[in-house]
Amino acid sequence: MTNKFEGLKLQKTNYPSEGERIIRNDKGQIETNYPVIPYIEGDGIGPDITKAMKLVIDTAVTKAYGTSRKIYWWEIYAGEKSYNFFGEWIPEDTMEAIKYFKIAIKGPLTTPVGGGIRSLNVAFRQKLDLYACIRPVRHFSGVPSPLKAPDKVNMIVFRENTEDVYAGIEWEAKSPEALKVIDFLKKEMGKSIRLDSGVGIKPISITGTKRLMRMALKYAINKGKKSVTIVHKGNIMKFTEGAFRKWCYETALEEFRDFIITEEELFDQYGGKAPEEKIIVKDRIADAMFQQILLRPEEYDVLVTPNLNGDYLSDALAAAVGGLGLAPGANMNDEIAFFEATHGTAPKYAGLDKVNPGSMILSAVMMLEHLGWTEAAELTIKAMEETIKSGTVTYDLARQMEASKEVSCSGFAKAICEKM
Ligand code: NAP
Repeated sequence: MTNKFEGLKLQKTNYPSEGERIIRNDKGQIETNYPVIPYIEGDGIGPDITKAMKLVIDTAVTKAYGTSRKIYWWEIYAGEKSYNFFGEWIPEDTMEAIKYFKIAIKGPLTTPVGGGIRSLNVAFRQKLDLYACIRPVRHFSGVPSPLKAPDKVNMIVFRENTEDVYAGIEWEAKSPEALKVIDFLKKEMGKSIRLDSGVGIKPISITGTKRLMRMALKYAINKGKKSVTIVHKGNIMKFTEGAFRKWCYETALEEFRDFIITEEELFDQYGGKAPEEKIIVKDRIADAMFQQILLRPEEYDVLVTPNLNGDYLSDALAAAVGGLGLAPGANMNDEIAFFEATHGTAPKYAGLDKVNPGSMILSAVMMLEHLGWTEAAELTIKAMEETIKSGTVTYDLARQMEASKEVSCSGFAKAICEKM
């Protein structure tokens, strides 16, 4: 097949026939009106939710812009489908496509058992250096929640994605490697560890921390957010989590001085009342933060966390507003944005057209916002909110809501389109 995309080299995948590569203007805004968006439909329930997502997003884009904007969806492969086609879980073509087009979206992927791959999601993050995992969390009216006032939750988590105990540097108890590290620590550093311990390394770097904080602050400035909160366990782990806190503050003070004040300055210099246009940078110890999201969620907007804290916190927040079925996410670096449904493949529901496509649809809404297509994003959110409020929901929400009408995955997508 002919290739109209200069510099794109694929081995096994067909080239996209229509659409454009995204371009950015001087201010970094995306200007393309007909972008190629590579998508991976995913395993298990992936095909059902991807189909639902594409219907909703295409309808919103047409309603918002007529024919002046359009997404050219282009399928790329990973997971079981890829393994069946090409004998590879993530083909090189897929990585190449994401690097080239800079935006992509994916359904959930099976984690292969054995075969040397820890997780396909981790492989994407590491190979593309997608250093920030971004999870916005808000409540949709009508969705059952364990909180008294879930509508007060409106936060976005920026979780570091490449370091911390998730770096994958660990050794099994009693392995020669673990014993060697234990021996080194004893002889060279004077630190004792039980000989039958597994050992893991927790690296947190200046580079990894500062680029994350920079991204979070830029987001807060662009979106007019009121605060950025650093969440850490620095009281105990001083040179990793404590340093994370310190480097985050340094980034804020050295690079964003005109836009921010610290919480300390808020009380020392402003009598506790923040000037309108300033973002307050504050920090909370992780355990206290878990209390805060339940007790005073309205005081938090943007959260910046090391990898492990962020993992726990994103899921706890999602549960607080009604569960993972509606939690969107993206993995990003300064160039690439890779959007994803945050739940797994739920294999028992595969092909049944049953599950909630909300997480995938809301991830695509993040993508519309990333493109700067705010009207289509808002239209989708509003229509989804109205659909849920009217009690038209998939099984997972229907079983928790008294007056509801259960619809299929595709039925939910159609209902959203009808509300637009
Ligand atoms: P899971 O696929 O998330 O499913 C667990 C349960 O969550 C489901 O049985 C279902 O609950 C509910 N659920 C998940 N998605 C839903 C949706 N869209 N709508 C309604 N309910 C939904 O977790 P798992 O069973 O532990 O993992 C299965 C596979 O997915 C594994 O291979 C795992 O490695 C992989 N995984 C992939 C990702 C990813 O690609 N991002 C993330 C996590 C897991 P009920 O049974 O109560 O209805």
